Amino acid sequence: MKFKNSEKIYEKAINIIPGGVNSPVRAFKSVKRSHPIFIKKGAGSKIWDEDNNEYIDYICSWGPLILGHNHPRVLNGVKEAIELGSSFGLPTKMEVELAEMVCSCYPSMDMVRFTTSGTEATMAAIRVARAYTNRNKILKFEGCYHGHSDALLVSSGSGLLTDGYQDSNGITDGVLRDTLVVPFGDIEGVKNYLKNEDVACIIMEPVPANMGLIHSEKKFLEEVRVLCDETKTLLIFDEVISGFRLALGGAQEIFNIKPDITTLGKIIGGGYPVGAFGGRRDIMNMIAPVGRVYHAGTLSGNPVAVRAGMETVGYLMENKDTLYKTLENNVQYLVDNIKKFSKLYNVPVCVNSFGSLFTIFFTEKDSVNLLQDALEASEEKYAIYFNTMLEEGIVTPPSKFEAHFISIAHSQEDLDRTLAVMEKAFKKISE
Ligand code: PLP
Repeated sequence: MKFKNSEKIYEKAINIIPGGVNSPVRAFKSVKRSHPIFIKKGAGSKIWDEDNNEYIDYICSWGPLILGHNHPRVLNGVKEAIELGSSFGLPTKMEVELAEMVCSCYPSMDMVRFTTSGTEATMAAIRVARAYTNRNKILKFEGCYHGHSDALLVSSGSGLLTDGYQDSNGITDGVLRDTLVVPFGDIEGVKNYLKNEDVACIIMEPVPANMGLIHSEKKFLEEVRVLCDETKTLLIFDEVISGFRLALGGAQEIFNIKPDITTLGKIIGGGYPVGAFGGRRDIMNMIAPVGRVYHAGTLSGNPVAVRAGMETVGYLMENKDTLYKTLENNVQYLVDNIKKFSKLYNVPVCVNSFGSLFTIFFTEKDSVNLLQDALEASEEKYAIYFNTMLEEGIVTPPSKFEAHFISIAHSQEDLDRTLAVMEKAFKKISE
C-alpha cells in the first residue's frame, strides 16, 4: 500500500496546523507512524484516502456514524436542508422536532438545549449544575473524557492519555482545585468527597469509553445515584458516546438509572456538528432567557446538522427492535474470534465490549476495569496490530485508549475480511 499523497499533504500540514491535525489522536503518533492518512471520502462501512487506498472503517468518526458513511436517508435529508439555507440565527421547526424525538427516548429529559459539540454540552451542563446547587466543585472519574473545556481536562482520557499525560497545561490553579477526581468504581472515594466537599455535580460516562472501553457495574451507578440524592448533588450522565449507541435511550435505559442532566452529541448530529444537554424542567429552566445561566451559539441547532440528526435518530427509532441486537451480535462475532486468535498465537488480550463498541487490550490481565489496567496494556503490541490492519485496508483506532466503533453498514463480508487480517496481526505480534 502506498501513502505518498498523504505524506505530501502532511508535510504541508505540519507547517500550518499544529501537529498537522485538528484533533491530536488523528496524528497517529502513538501507533508509531510518521504521518496520518488523509481521507478523501466515505461510503457505508468504507473510507478512501488521498492515495485512493480503500479501508473498512472502525473509527466511524469516533461514534456519530452508527448508520455508516453517507447513509442515503441522512444524505437526502441534508441535501434538502441545504437547499433551504445554511443557517439563520433564528429558530426552526426542525429543532423542536429533534428536541421532541430526543426527549421521547430519554425519560430523564423534560427539556433539551442543542449545542454544536459534546464539549459545549458538558461545559454548559456543569455551569447549570453549579448555578442550581450554588456549589463550586465538580467530581469526575479518572481517565474519563468529557470534551476539552478547562474544568474537564483534569485526569482526562482520550487524546491526552494517548499522548501520555492527563492534565492539560493552561488551566488555572482555581479550576484544578475545583475539579475533584476519583478512580472509576471507587464508591468510598465518591462518598468521601460528597460528604466533605462542596460538590455541585458528578459528571460521568456511565460506560467509560475514553481509556479504551471499561466495564461499568449497575451497582456502582446505583450507589452513585443514591449518594447524589442524599447530598443533593446533581448527577450528569455524559452519554455523548453511549447515547443512541448502546440503546436508543443510552446507558441510562440499559441500567435503568435517571440522571439529573444528560449530555449527548455524536449520533444526534448524524456526522454533522450537534451536541445537546437536557434534564429535569426545574434545572433546565435556569438557562437564559428563562433564567440567568448563559448558554448560546451562532450555529447551535444548525438546520443542516439538526436534519442529519433527525434522519439518524428517526432511523434508529424505527429499527430499534432489531438494529441494536444485530450490532451487538456483530461485535460478539469479532470478539469471539479475537479470543480464538489470542489462544492460537499465544498473545494474551483482554477484550472489553458493549453493544457496538469494543477495545482490545494487549495485556496479561483477565480484566481491565480501571485506568491503571489500561495504562499497563502494551502500546507496542497495539501499534503492530494497528499497522498490520492499516496496511491491509482496515482502519482501527490509532490509540490503545480508544474504542472500535461499528455501524449497521458493516457487512458479514467486512467482518470476515477484518478477521482474516486480525489473524495476521496476532501472528505478527507472536513472532
Ligand atoms: N464526552 C464524551 C464521552 C466524549 O467521548 C466526547 C468526545 O469524544 C466529548 C464529550 C466531547 O465531544 P466533542 O468532541 O463533540 O466536543
